[in-house]
Amino acid sequence: MDLKAFNLESQTKAYSSPGCRICKAPFGESLVVKEMMFGFRDEFKYQQCSLCGCLQIAELPVNISKYYPPYYYSFTANTAVLKRQSYFKRLFGYFRLKKLFKTNRPVLKYLKPVKIAFSDKILEIGCGKGQQICNLFNIGFENIEGVDKFIPEEIDHGFGVKIMKKDLVELQPNQYDLIIMNHVLEHMDQQQEVLKNCRSLLKEQGCLMIAIPVIAEAFNIYKANWVQLDAPRHFFLHTVKSMSILAQQTGFEIRNTYFDSASFQFWASELYQRDIPLFSIENDYQAYPFEKIFSEEEIETFEMRSRQLNEKEMGDTVVFYLYKSS
Ligand SMILES: [Zn+2]
Repeated sequence: MDLKAFNLESQTKAYSSPGCRICKAPFGESLVVKEMMFGFRDEFKYQQCSLCGCLQIAELPVNISKYYPPYYYSFTANTAVLKRQSYFKRLFGYFRLKKLFKTNRPVLKYLKPVKIAFSDKILEIGCGKGQQICNLFNIGFENIEGVDKFIPEEIDHGFGVKIMKKDLVELQPNQYDLIIMNHVLEHMDQQQEVLKNCRSLLKEQGCLMIAIPVIAEAFNIYKANWVQLDAPRHFFLHTVKSMSILAQQTGFEIRNTYFDSASFQFWASELYQRDIPLFSIENDYQAYPFEKIFSEEEIETFEMRSRQLNEKEMGDTVVFYLYKSS
């Protein structure tokens, strides 16, 4: 939940659209969604495309900074200390990485479908203070950078690990083997433009890894109370179909998907359904102690259902692996 790189400049631009911003088909259903992460309860209209199913905010909020309060950033407090691997370990990086993939480390599970080497050049977009970048460095990836135009200033973590405060268009093209966007794209209002920029930054065989929430079973159950709507911070809630259309429009093909939804999709949506915010002043801005209202059995059921949904490719979060189409 870093501060996501949505386009502040376009707040003043007209955003109304006669049809879907992805496939241009007419909108079908619309729904009103409340801000519930912090419990402002302000209401926002979302429209769903009748063809690709993508759900989109109807108007960009003018005062968006209200919904990224200072304590939003503190959720990503960075305590990372960079530890460089020994010369010996770096020399045998290839074998080390192969071995590491077998250990199922959380930070590596998303990289499994990508042919990656420790020496590959990696960029994370919208990385905030760079927590994930530091984690990747600590297991051996050294050629790694972050970019986030909403951080107050550039951050130098040492060992060449830098977080740049820049626009994507300011970066050198054709230089990255892997670009990571971890729950960032849904916060951006210019979907096609972002993906085109990523395409030009990638090397020919490079991979663009996009983790986003998707419209699936949890939306069907909870509708306006689905936690991943996250109004008004999420501008686009894609379907697998709308993501494939977007990929195709911007010169990509999706080669892999990885469904990684968790019990959060159930318990947090249940909270919203009961009009309970996720974080609140009353609760010292801590996440709601959901264990207090759900029994262990209920939580176990939520976890089991999430695993089942992921297997059926119907979980509400997914990682897409995009490559330049030939
Ligand atoms: Zn559409």
